[in-house]
Amino acid sequence: MPVKLKSFVGGRWHQGSGKTVTLLNPATEEPLAETSTGGIDFRAALTHARSVGGPALRSMTFAERAEKLQELYEVLFANREEFIELSIENGGNTRNDAKFDVDGATATLLAYVDVGKQLGDRHLINDGESTQIGRTPRYAGKHILTPLHGAAVHVNAFNFPAWGMIEKAAVAWLAGMPVVSKPATSTALLAHRMTEIIIDSAVLPEGAFSFIAGSVGDLLEHLGPQDVLAFTGSGDTAAVLRRLDAHTKQSVRVNVEADSLNAAVMGPDVEAGSETWQMMLNEVVTDVRQKAGQKCTAIRRVFVPPAKLESFSDALGERLEDIVIGNPAEASVRMGPLVSANQLDDVRAAIEVLQGQTTKVTGSLEPEELLGIQVGKGYFLTPHLFRVDDAASAPIVHEREIFGPVVSVLPYEDTGTLINSCAAGGGSLVSSVYSDDRNFSRELLIGLAPFNGRLTHGSSRVAGISPGPGTVMPMLVHGGPGRAGGGEELGGLRGLSFYMQRTAVQGYSALLDKFFPD
Ligand code: NAP
Repeated sequence: MPVKLKSFVGGRWHQGSGKTVTLLNPATEEPLAETSTGGIDFRAALTHARSVGGPALRSMTFAERAEKLQELYEVLFANREEFIELSIENGGNTRNDAKFDVDGATATLLAYVDVGKQLGDRHLINDGESTQIGRTPRYAGKHILTPLHGAAVHVNAFNFPAWGMIEKAAVAWLAGMPVVSKPATSTALLAHRMTEIIIDSAVLPEGAFSFIAGSVGDLLEHLGPQDVLAFTGSGDTAAVLRRLDAHTKQSVRVNVEADSLNAAVMGPDVEAGSETWQMMLNEVVTDVRQKAGQKCTAIRRVFVPPAKLESFSDALGERLEDIVIGNPAEASVRMGPLVSANQLDDVRAAIEVLQGQTTKVTGSLEPEELLGIQVGKGYFLTPHLFRVDDAASAPIVHEREIFGPVVSVLPYEDTGTLINSCAAGGGSLVSSVYSDDRNFSRELLIGLAPFNGRLTHGSSRVAGISPGPGTVMPMLVHGGPGRAGGGEELGGLRGLSFYMQRTAVQGYSALLDKFFPD
């Protein structure tokens, strides 16, 4: 019998009633667990977080909250192996892909331990210097950040149940807000186990952490003016959340991390087989293979000079064909399945359209050789590579995020059209430029910046030391304009401001300096 996952709200575990959703192992289709949130009082859950968790967190200094994050890091790290196993089982991840999620979560906690230590023994943040605003220096103004008094509701996507939950929660806790976290249902097993361990550890004060295993029910209807909502997932769901009364009528902050058509650009100076070529090739292969391409930061569009279109596509195709696919529990498997039957259907449908507009270099919708998999089981397809000979003839490449192991290679003529083509994705989380030509690199980085939340520059100087564009760094902002949701998360200290009110305070300058010392 699959286990029934409980939600933790109002300071206790609740077994939901009514309609259940079954979580599966996407490689074997074996049922693993069931969720249901019927009958849970979400209004009371929010009240408990606000009235019990909020005051407890706000009574601590940043340094004290950082100590809590450090303790959480230790508790979670001690259970790393179990988390990796659950990620393989429920997420269809290979061991390395599972580590990417699980270790990403603990690394982000540690990064925010450092931010908290730097903020030290204080309860609020001074945002910038005092400014003289009167005729004499006696009258001044400054900005302070204080934690909001509501609850931080986090709704996460299926692809990073560990990192997605912890990267948001670490920032909110450090800022001083209680968290109500809801993972995507299909892969909730890992986030649920992490929650059990966090709750059992009693590291956090009561009310600081609530967890919803399954649908959010009417939770979002009860959000109020001091609450915030941070969402990661599809643009379609984001559009629904942006129409919430809480947002439109009460200005509840909504941060959206949505889909993205990330670009990788090869400079005209990059020669086949050079260090920079190899670096770009490796990073594209990683993004297609890792988590079977189900990564919001994965490279989807590769732009190369026309003379390199065929050679780079061929080199990439060969590498993709070498990837061993199958049951991610097998040590030699390098790519697992997609996470669900729905996900597989979506990707297949998009590939059908892509095939009509481009030239397929490699890829099969019905993989024949799957290591360790019973014939007909699991949500598999092989990596797909498409070559676009005429960039204008394949609008789907710039319009639809295909959330799977699928990438397209396109030619560009000059930097102007290249920047326009990258921008045609409608706003991306990250793009990467590979070149040792400083003029080209600078022009591209500046030209692409308005359309991207993050840029990576690959060159022979950093080959072998770059984690690649697909890895989100906690000290750098994560988010992107337009299609990518227009949100911003992480970024070290910057991330805290979403959970805090920035207030301008005016008065006698000496007193302001005393009240709010630097
Ligand atoms: P999704 O279907 O939009 O679901 C995301 C989350 O929203 C899930 O927890 C889901 O819960 C919940 N949800 C769905 N409908 C809802 C509603 N009406 N009200 C409240 N919550 C609702 O997205 P997904 O399939 O999990 O994730 C894939 C997408 O996420 C891709 O487009 C990807 O690009 C994007 N993504 C973006 C980032 C980023 O950082 N920018 C990171 C990862 C993924 P249930 O699972 O219970 O339905």
